[in-house]
Amino acid sequence: MDELKRIIRDIPDFPKKGIIFKDITTLLSDAKSFHRMVDLLAHRYLGEKIDQIVGIEARGFILGAALAYKLGTGITLVRKPGKLPYQTCSINYDLEYGSDSLEIHEDAFKKGDRVIIADDLLATGGTMAAVFELVENIGAEVHECAFMAELEFLNGRSRLPDGKVYSLLKL
Ligand code: AMP
Repeated sequence: MDELKRIIRDIPDFPKKGIIFKDITTLLSDAKSFHRMVDLLAHRYLGEKIDQIVGIEARGFILGAALAYKLGTGITLVRKPGKLPYQTCSINYDLEYGSDSLEIHEDAFKKGDRVIIADDLLATGGTMAAVFELVENIGAEVHECAFMAELEFLNGRSRLPDGKVYSLLKL
């Protein structure tokens, strides 16, 4: 685990002054680390009844697709406005730096589908809290929110329901 943590690179003052950006591209591009990260996360859900993975644009697609493949499910995309071609439901949310909205296809799930929402990093929790609500609004049940890493000092998990958050690496 320490090895996985060490390979994530800190970029000070990106995208603006005062933010220490956690660059996970170094973990993704290292074959051993990438495989280990995906295997460890997937292992947690083997044997659970999971119907679908939800990936959040853009880095959540990478973990989401890998998890879906491992667990034998499909992946549903949550995207920035105007990118999804069919009818969508949308939600506004706050970021650590700015605000935005996200969309999902309104027919993405069957009622009661159990899903895992995947993203790269839990920071303030604003993005995941919004996607959690979006996914439940269109009828799915969130089994857990899965992250490669979590910035613990921001306490993002306090914005999400107890017991519904898992991160592999605590930063
Ligand atoms: P938040 O809504 O604050 O939990 O932020 C979630 C999203 O913003 C994640 O998907 C991250 O990709 C990105 N993000 C926020 N803060 C950072 C950071 N310090 N380093 C890298 N990515 C970040």
